[in-house]
Amino acid sequence: MNLEPAAYQENKAYSRSLNGKKIPSLSIVVPCYNESEAFDACVKELDSVIQALISDNCIRPESVIIFVDDGSKDNTWALIKQASIQNSRIHGVKLSRNRGHQLALMAGLSTVTTDICISIDADLQDDTSCIREMVEKYMQGNEIVYGVRNDRSSDSFFKRSTANAFYKFMTAMGVSQVANHADYRLLSKRALSSLLKYKEKNIYIRGMIPLIGFTSDKVYYSRSSRVAGESKYPLKKMIALAMEGVTSLSVTPLRIISALGFITCIIAAIASFYALFEKMRGSTIEGWTSVMISIFFLGGVQLLSLGVIGEYIGKIYIETKDRPKFFIEEMTYEDQNESA
Ligand code: UDP
Ligand code: MG
Repeated sequence: MNLEPAAYQENKAYSRSLNGKKIPSLSIVVPCYNESEAFDACVKELDSVIQALISDNCIRPESVIIFVDDGSKDNTWALIKQASIQNSRIHGVKLSRNRGHQLALMAGLSTVTTDICISIDADLQDDTSCIREMVEKYMQGNEIVYGVRNDRSSDSFFKRSTANAFYKFMTAMGVSQVANHADYRLLSKRALSSLLKYKEKNIYIRGMIPLIGFTSDKVYYSRSSRVAGESKYPLKKMIALAMEGVTSLSVTPLRIISALGFITCIIAAIASFYALFEKMRGSTIEGWTSVMISIFFLGGVQLLSLGVIGEYIGKIYIETKDRPKFFIEEMTYEDQNESA
């Protein structure tokens, strides 16, 4: 006979899914900048997704939606506050000023206390029906689930081509990231706490997530147009994001200087032979050979030296980030020491 109290048994049954994995509590994190036009639709949509998942026993009832007001100039914060009074599932976080999408998202993520979290934009461009799929993939053992756009035809031609150029540039600069994935993703508690161990201040979250590792999967969706309002990512912000991504994650630009220096030295050596050859043929005016050789030689040596100095600065730069060196995914015994 089972002597455990009924409420406890019910709770135990509730907190176990079919394959024995605990049903997770979920936080949906939404950074908002001047989103008053899209806010109501966003709350309605996300709340109904959460309610449906709760009633299907996919997530726990203590799941929440965290809206981060990134120093909006309109009444976004007033709307968030009002919504949080009407609906206890809605939480609000207000930044003291506009810090940009990436930092606003990080601020929201740092307040998460649930088992899993999903980040999504306020404009509902990302298909919310993927949330269920993401949770399912988490239950199958994935710690990170990336939302990947397989169709951006609803974006303007300009947005599409600049976004494509952006991804190509980032890849060329050595920043590895999941193609066509923005910041719509699920993170398990473990993946999130690993991300938060990266103490750097200049952040490009899309490029940092693959550094964490762990088992991951993707869900595909087609991106729709903004539900209301206009893009808060004009070209200027996109270029700033690309520069942030490259300079915070890659030392490739420094390597390019080293390579240029090396190539210049080789060209200088060939050109010096040519200048000497011309001098021996007697077809040069006095002083030409020495001037040419010194220009080539000094140019090459200077660029190469800059590259070498750059390599060391790159190392110092990486060291100052004091990043965690590794995360342990699994151990055969209980007492886990997650990272170092
Ligand atoms: N956002 C933000 N701070 C900013 C700019 C944007 O929090 O400085 C938010 C914005 O409210 C939205 C998300 O980041 O929820 C993505 O912005 P948007 O949809 O305008 O970018 P796009 O989809 O056009 O690239
Ligand atoms: Mg958008």
